[in-house]
Amino acid sequence: MKTLSIKQRLANNHPLFSVEFFPPKSDDTAQQLLHTAERIQAYRPDFVSITYGAGGSTRSRTLNYARKLHEDYGYAVMPHLTCVGHSREELKQIIAEFKSAGLKQIMALRGDPPKGETNFTPHPDGLRYANELVQLIREVYPECDLGVAGYPEKHPEAPSLEIDLLNLKRKVDAGATFVTTQLFFDNSAYFEFVEKCRRAGITVPVLPGLMSITSYKQALRFCEMCGTSIPVALNQQLIAAGEDQAAVEAIGIEWSYQQAHELLEKGAPGIHLYILNRAGPAIALMKKLQRAGFYK
Ligand SMILES: Cc1cc2nc3c(=O)[nH]c(=O)nc-3n(C[C@H](O)[C@H](O)[C@H](O)COP(=O)(O)OP(=O)(O)OC[C@H]3O[C@@H](n4cnc5c(N)ncnc54)[C@H](O)[C@@H]3O)c2cc1C
Repeated sequence: MKTLSIKQRLANNHPLFSVEFFPPKSDDTAQQLLHTAERIQAYRPDFVSITYGAGGSTRSRTLNYARKLHEDYGYAVMPHLTCVGHSREELKQIIAEFKSAGLKQIMALRGDPPKGETNFTPHPDGLRYANELVQLIREVYPECDLGVAGYPEKHPEAPSLEIDLLNLKRKVDAGATFVTTQLFFDNSAYFEFVEKCRRAGITVPVLPGLMSITSYKQALRFCEMCGTSIPVALNQQLIAAGEDQAAVEAIGIEWSYQQAHELLEKGAPGIHLYILNRAGPAIALMKKLQRAGFYK
């Protein structure tokens, strides 16, 4: 098992590689996650993250699978944690549970409103924004490596990218060690975002989040939800592929490969893959990046 912290790995000159899982809800989907975890071991991710569901609904599932991925597969695991539906005391307990499970990094998020609600309403004894969660984690688990979310195309609720960046800076000033971005398909959004971060005094690494599209409908849904745009050229290719699943997947892999190639060539600190618990596209992408000499 690798023992360097994410912060140390990001400071290395080698590009970092990480993947994101979500906690499964059924036995079948659990098998898929574990099978994927096994298959991607060969590509030695620097860390794997596991998301945290709305309303605290996956509190135990996130912890259980984080533990499993750490203990059974030897991964450095970064569980996500959101403020949704939790009091400060509950959050402290969860952080303590992560710590005692030997998890040395946490992704600190505010979270989205629970299904059916449009506005985020903090718990009466809870936290309003992710910067407050970063501060809380720093207080109770100071040595923890802390990731926070960044939005190259702006967080949907933010009135402007400039204001969103000021809020991102609050998270970094509170103690975040790196930023992982929302998924994007247009690299210029990432490069401009990083430049604006630097001008705003945000100096921590900004890890680009990529997703290989496997379904056009799903991609449209995700993009609408998180305010990500699909470039015209990609859109045209996906429309032309129609219902041909294999063609859609091939387009998704090639697009994310071209993105990763340019990002790494121009100095991005690595890539974080939103893999939706599927191994195939991530492995195809990593093989191409290995052939191009970015990873061993
Ligand atoms: C890499 C990544 C991983 C994610 N993982 C999960 C997950 O596991 N579970 C999940 O439910 N969701 C997840 N999300 C989605 C995320 O929870 C939503 O995007 C959510 O709406 C915002 O979370 P945040 O941590 O960015 O919030 P914040 O940083 O708190 O920002 C939320 C909004 O408030 C504004 N804001 C922030 N701080 C302040 C302040 N102090 N004062 C005034 N305004 C402020 C921001 O500009 C922004 O518009 C993830 C997103 C990303 C990019």
